[in-house]
Amino acid sequence: MIRENMGDLDDLYMEIILDHYKSPRNKADLSHIDNDNMHENPSCGDSLKLEILMGDDGRIDSVRFDGHGCAISTASASLMTERLPGKTPEEARSFIEVFLKVLRGEEPAERLEEWGDLAVLGGVVKFPMRVKCATLAWHALEKSLED
Ligand code: ZN
Repeated sequence: MIRENMGDLDDLYMEIILDHYKSPRNKADLSHIDNDNMHENPSCGDSLKLEILMGDDGRIDSVRFDGHGCAISTASASLMTERLPGKTPEEARSFIEVFLKVLRGEEPAERLEEWGDLAVLGGVVKFPMRVKCATLAWHALEKSLED
């Protein structure tokens, strides 16, 4: 019974990742942004850049990304950008902080559960080789918020 439940969880996890990989949300042509702003994960070959559009109310209106990457890096960027509209830069920074702590194993993966589908990325903590794939977009966001 436990094995069956684990099997279902893994299938759901892969289904969500592959859905976001095949149809990434908020992926756009950002060729107007200088390639110096490209973030890379050489261990896998992932690269991406971000554009944050701010609303007049000081909250994030939308975040778009462009680049090439594996299923996990693309799905992570797609899932991340879905959750950002409406957040203040301060809220976005604490969002990044919690996510990075979970992926470093410093916080339990359950911390991500309130974020809907994004919670599947908590499972990546079990695959240390892929953690840099999952965190690439988040480090890019952290840097973009500083600028
Ligand atoms: Zn990757």
